[in-house]
Amino acid sequence: MLSYRQDFPILSRQVYGRPLVYLDNAATTQKPRCVVDAITDEYYSVNANVHRGVHYLSQQATERHEAARETVRRFINARSTSEVVFTRGTTESLNLVASSFGEAFLHDGDEVILTVMEHHSDIVPWQLLQQRRAIVLRVVPMTDDGALDLEAYERLFTPRTRLVCCAHVSNVLGTVNPIRRMARIAHDHGALFLADGAQSVPHMTVDVQDLDCDFLTFSGHKVYGPTGIGVLYGREDLLERMPPYQGGGEMISRVTFEHTTYERLPYKFEAGTPDYVGSHALAVALDYVSAIGMDRIAAHERRLTAYAMERMAAIPGMQLYGTQPDKDAVVAFNIEGIHPLDLGTLLDRLGIAIRTGHHCAQPLMARCGVEGMARASFALYNTTDEIDALVAAIERCRRMF
Ligand code: PMP
Repeated sequence: MLSYRQDFPILSRQVYGRPLVYLDNAATTQKPRCVVDAITDEYYSVNANVHRGVHYLSQQATERHEAARETVRRFINARSTSEVVFTRGTTESLNLVASSFGEAFLHDGDEVILTVMEHHSDIVPWQLLQQRRAIVLRVVPMTDDGALDLEAYERLFTPRTRLVCCAHVSNVLGTVNPIRRMARIAHDHGALFLADGAQSVPHMTVDVQDLDCDFLTFSGHKVYGPTGIGVLYGREDLLERMPPYQGGGEMISRVTFEHTTYERLPYKFEAGTPDYVGSHALAVALDYVSAIGMDRIAAHERRLTAYAMERMAAIPGMQLYGTQPDKDAVVAFNIEGIHPLDLGTLLDRLGIAIRTGHHCAQPLMARCGVEGMARASFALYNTTDEIDALVAAIERCRRMF
């Protein structure tokens, strides 16, 4: 994977006079030149508002935007482009489902199952919905090594369970949750299943039909694409029955002051001018990783993760969180006697970018009995040399305390 580093101009820059070691990929990935070029090209040579224009540029921009939808469909193996809704990102996708699915399908007393390792963006929208609907949230617990307790999961189902929402991969523990199996259990109980793919789509092949999930969410910026664009995949028959999330242009068929009818899918959920520059650049990013091969990327990142876990476990005073053997691309940790914020700040001075804090997963922090953690996370361009640099830097910080 070393040869791909040259596609990412930012990786050759220095910080504080040192080579950048970028290990904050779970927060956002760096962008290959082709993605940045796609944004420039769109603005320099195609830019026009999509869908409504009769003129040449508008038609070309529309073609690109819709071609991007097809690229996303293929990438996640959705059945139809009607099932691919462009959003601002995972957070908006989850809010859309909570608001719109909640409106159509959830009644007072209905239950939604979440897990203790959910990102705040898969918790708070459901709490917001609770202000409108008296739904009950149930939470799947986990074991100390960071696996969901599947027996406890099965016991959470009641005749009122309507939906399960679960991170495919935890952004803190790196645990790859057994989505296919969990979706089957949900379906056996008559419930639907949403997989938050924010941390899986960038790292492995994610096939919505194979996983048999009813909804999937992800963000463009975590899969080498631009910020501000993301995707909601939803089964067509469900999206058909869900009301619009926002109102405005693009999402209507006909408007009078008395009565408005809505556009067909997926436009019903895409009010306003869409991010057609972002969708095009996202498609270029997905084509880029597809050309490398998601399975190759996954194998490389799993190797890096296993290497990092082994090397870091050997550091005295090291506490690693999430020790599932096949975990993915994320290593969260604390060093005895060093506050994670201090560690992050010291590593930064050595050119190493990691993230520290609660990682938008405060219930998980509480479960682990800590306020925060340090987190290194990997992408296709990271190397074992960079992990060696991280380990050496941590050792150096330890000696300072
Ligand atoms: N879910 C998970 C598992 C995540 O890791 C993230 C981003 N950290 C999100 C949701 C939210 O993604 P975004 O901020 O791109 O909307």
